[in-house]
Amino acid sequence: MIRKLLIANRGEIACRVIKTARRLGIATVAVYSDADVNALHVKMADESIHVGPAPSKNSYLQGDRIIEAAKKLNVDAIHPGYGFLSENAAFANACAKNNVIFIGPPASSIEAMGSKSAAKTIMEKAGVPLVPGYHGDDQARDTLKAAADKMGYPVLLKAAAGGGGKGMRQVWSEDEFDEALAAAKREAMASFGDDIMLVEKYLTQPRHVEIQVFCDSKGDGVYLFERDCSVQRRHQKVIEEAPAPGMTEALRSTMGEAAIKAAQAIDYVGAGTVEFLLDADGSFYFMEMNTRLQVEHPVTELITGEDLVEWQIRIAEGNPLPKEQSTLSIRGHAFEARIYAEDPDNDFLPATGTLSLLQPPQEDTHVRVDTGVVEGDEVSVYYDPMIAKLVVWSENRDIALERLLKALREYHIDGVTTNIEFLYNVAANKAFRDAELVTTFIEKHQDSLF
Ligand code: ADP
Repeated sequence: MIRKLLIANRGEIACRVIKTARRLGIATVAVYSDADVNALHVKMADESIHVGPAPSKNSYLQGDRIIEAAKKLNVDAIHPGYGFLSENAAFANACAKNNVIFIGPPASSIEAMGSKSAAKTIMEKAGVPLVPGYHGDDQARDTLKAAADKMGYPVLLKAAAGGGGKGMRQVWSEDEFDEALAAAKREAMASFGDDIMLVEKYLTQPRHVEIQVFCDSKGDGVYLFERDCSVQRRHQKVIEEAPAPGMTEALRSTMGEAAIKAAQAIDYVGAGTVEFLLDADGSFYFMEMNTRLQVEHPVTELITGEDLVEWQIRIAEGNPLPKEQSTLSIRGHAFEARIYAEDPDNDFLPATGTLSLLQPPQEDTHVRVDTGVVEGDEVSVYYDPMIAKLVVWSENRDIALERLLKALREYHIDGVTTNIEFLYNVAANKAFRDAELVTTFIEKHQDSLF
């Protein structure tokens, strides 16, 4: 039994985890940096402990210090949220060594998915469909180039260690290859300290459809259906929804089964997301597996009526899956819009400042706002500038979209530049209403979005 939980994170996700823990009667411990002394997640937790100065590498990424704090306060388990230490195999291992439950998969599963090339090798063996491409160890320029030439352009160069859309370059013809390779390697080295590259066929009009899976420690798995995250800017998600429009029952179960197979191939335990590209002809290809709770998990919660953090906690305690596949079903439609402090008119540059006015729409059964800030708080340069996740639910996609537009109109923030108007323009776009979703959506509709 988990009686006391430390949340090794900040902001909205720390607050989100605390809410479920509180409902389950589990005591909570927040960690905080110098910049977060008065933060909402600290106020919400039963106890809190300082872990270092503002920069995350000196505080929220200090695994040893966080484990020390957990031991000092007699914590049973650590929830890592997303980002920070959530996909850090060494941290998961250190938790186990110190008899603290890490709410996530075993370190070996994290490691297996840590490299996109190693992950593809495992998935290939497990029979999960892959984006055609090269993911070998031989990294010589000529080998990579020959692979690209052979599969035909356009190709996508991708950092094996990549994340957050970094270290990726499209190559449209042979003569762009060398320059793109150099740029992708440079960015990968700077961001991840590793410049191993994959070459993939670049799909020009795919959708990003991901499957939420859960496995328990006995190895049983279920899927909590899909999310469509095609609306992206520079490979970063902007608006997500569930279920994916136009999904047939047959494709849903084929993709769901493939996702479970992917998870079981790495002896997965807990919550995970298997990301696929879905082509117009219904072919789907494994991209990667995220071994943690995703930012966009609330849309899945709203259409299934399940609390994914509760599932994580139950499974981490060693319990079997809370539900069997046949008892899970989809009800209605949900959207999530990521409200950011950023300036869409200035290349989406992160914005900072004091939230002098913070007036979200009224929360009810149709509207949920996950946030980690209150009026008067500072949006600083230190952390991800997400202010909130606006999540809406309704009986069907059309009504849910109306709710989303209404909620965006009712969201008022002053003191910091935000992307609210941009999100509104995306949601109000006719092609979005018609669910013409592709990963190039924002590029394609540039002119009507700004
Ligand atoms: P990261 O880990 O950096 O987020 P992913 O591999 O998850 O990288 O890819 C991020 C996004 O890039 C995808 O959602 C998709 O929009 C795009 N993408 C990735 N691979 C391909 C591909 N082979 N063809 C077309 N688009 C791709």
